[in-house]
Amino acid sequence: MRSRPPLNPEDRQIIEEWQAKIAIANRNNIFCHCKTCNAEWVDSSLEADCQACGSDRVERISCWQFPDD
Ligand SMILES: [Zn+2]
Repeated sequence: MRSRPPLNPEDRQIIEEWQAKIAIANRNNIFCHCKTCNAEWVDSSLEADCQACGSDRVERISCWQFPDD
């Protein structure tokens, strides 16, 4: 297999637009699950501690990663 050809500028722009959209979605839709008290919430921060118990053992999943069905 030969390596893939380099992206042309149009493809690169589309990818950059997608990355920007994903970054925005990431900022605003972080699904959080506290491993200590099992609280679940949606946050805009990847740094927030659990609002219910203050634990920092929080699992964070970006909402855009969920399958759309
Ligand atoms: Zn908690």
